[in-house]
Amino acid sequence: MPELPEVETLRRALARELEGCRLKALKIYEPRLLQNTSEQELQQVLIGSRLRAVKRRAKFLLFDFGRHTAILHLRMTGWLALHPIANPRFCFEFVENKTLYLHDTRRLATLYLVPSTRVNKLPPLCKLGIEPFQPSYTFENFIALLQTDQEIKRLLLDQRKIAGIGNIYACEALFASKIHPQRPAKSLSRLEARRLFTQIDKILMRALAEQGTSVRTYRGLMGEPGGFQNFLKVYDRAGKPCVRCRAKIVRIMQSGRGTYFCPHCQK
Ligand SMILES: [Zn+2]
Repeated sequence: MPELPEVETLRRALARELEGCRLKALKIYEPRLLQNTSEQELQQVLIGSRLRAVKRRAKFLLFDFGRHTAILHLRMTGWLALHPIANPRFCFEFVENKTLYLHDTRRLATLYLVPSTRVNKLPPLCKLGIEPFQPSYTFENFIALLQTDQEIKRLLLDQRKIAGIGNIYACEALFASKIHPQRPAKSLSRLEARRLFTQIDKILMRALAEQGTSVRTYRGLMGEPGGFQNFLKVYDRAGKPCVRCRAKIVRIMQSGRGTYFCPHCQK
């Protein structure tokens, strides 16, 4: 699933390619994509408008068309392309001879339309927690979130608490911090919390520099893979030796997602 570094990589490419372009036509092929709008409304409101900016909040992409903003969440398997693809879920055609396609095997991606002044009031966005790379991501805010019995790995995936991290980077950050994923969040010492806080930032920054992680489906806007899969230390390595201590990496399920960790050096 695209997480913060992948969505930010896409955002930058979209901004570079499409900002300033005027929408000529749009077609929705997957009605389940639409959360609070219709194909007809999207066409009425957006066609003829210029794409002013492509923004991001956590894993949401915000297409700012001036008075209205279209908000896309790629969920598990969504990805965007500027070249024609088989079975697109939508296509947005611009006057400048560019067309944006959404590909989504599992059909879980979601699209919203809101007046631009109300973007932050939209229910999925207004409920998001603090976010790495944003001013809200301070150590004091982070440690305040940890005062709960919730398992630390589940907490890191809880978008209402910390937005944008996702499964791959939560596993990697816990491994780098030597923290067991099933520890109650409040059992972390201040030092452990500091280590985790710093590692989350460091790992996301590095992944962004590598233009994301392509383990299964993620591709950049031009079809190119990210590079951070080459730096993963624990994610997707069940049964393989830990890079620190050679113990076998274990996979367990938490919040419906596979957690990978080293039972020997993550305490
Ligand atoms: Zn280990």
